[in-house]
Amino acid sequence: FDQLDGHIWMNGEMVPWAEAKIHVLTHGLHYASAVFEGERAYGGQIFKLTEHTERLHESARILGFEIPYTVDEIDNACIQLLHKQGFQDAYVRPIAWRGSEMMGVSAQKNRINLAIAIWQWPSYFDPEQKLKGIRLDMADYRRPDPRTAPSKSKAAGLYMICTISKHAAEAKGYADALMLDWRGQVAEATGANVFFVKDGVIHTPVPEGFLDGITRRTVIGLARERGFEIVERAIMPEELEDFEQCFLTGTAAEVTPVSEIGPYRFEVGEIAKTLMNDYAAIVQPARAAAAE
Ligand code: PMP
Repeated sequence: FDQLDGHIWMNGEMVPWAEAKIHVLTHGLHYASAVFEGERAYGGQIFKLTEHTERLHESARILGFEIPYTVDEIDNACIQLLHKQGFQDAYVRPIAWRGSEMMGVSAQKNRINLAIAIWQWPSYFDPEQKLKGIRLDMADYRRPDPRTAPSKSKAAGLYMICTISKHAAEAKGYADALMLDWRGQVAEATGANVFFVKDGVIHTPVPEGFLDGITRRTVIGLARERGFEIVERAIMPEELEDFEQCFLTGTAAEVTPVSEIGPYRFEVGEIAKTLMNDYAAIVQPARAAAAE
């Protein structure tokens, strides 16, 4: 991935892709003092760009550092880079981290760096499998208590348990894993939020120990526009047996139906399909502008 063509925006400059490097003694690498975003461009426009940039700022603030660029400057850098890369549909990855000036847990004076990379990432899950519903395993790790980790921050460190869980699931032939939270309630997948359907009503966990995804909020809005009832509540894993449909939401995953979680089976039903199509329609620039 470090040898692609094009440029990476790094601390205000357009750097050739392969030259966008950092030192091995970077604080962000050793102590996970890094926060990032994941955005998608559709038809040459980045969907909910400012919301993502604001979340990036907030994620850094939660980790105790301030990104030395304003939301406007970061938005403009993303747009400028998208044009320079020449993509219409692409994935956008801004990342901010503490630099390599000082070594040790404390790194008060280390420079805060910001980089943005944009590449083509068509589908997070196999497109054919997506239509049939993907298969999830149950993860061993749980999302931490918000008193144990800064769970409202899209912090690199929180992805350690996600990678372990996703790799374990993939080793068993699953596409992803469903994580519970510290209390044993259903939380989310390793990089996407989760929804269930029963008797025409949509149920989704309350985002207390995990990210309240921008896609999650968009899909809740779309469901309400359709007149579907949405209930945000504590969901216990024992209840999975009772649900008829399940789907994931996320910038990368978009709306992805789920056919299986461990021993439980779900149909790729009308509500999941409707919201998948509604989301696909709203991300297109003309539709998104009309809905603002
Ligand atoms: N949870 C996790 C762990 C994620 O990585 C993501 C993707 N950013 C989400 C949820 C969904 O968030 P969003 O809809 O804002 O992409």
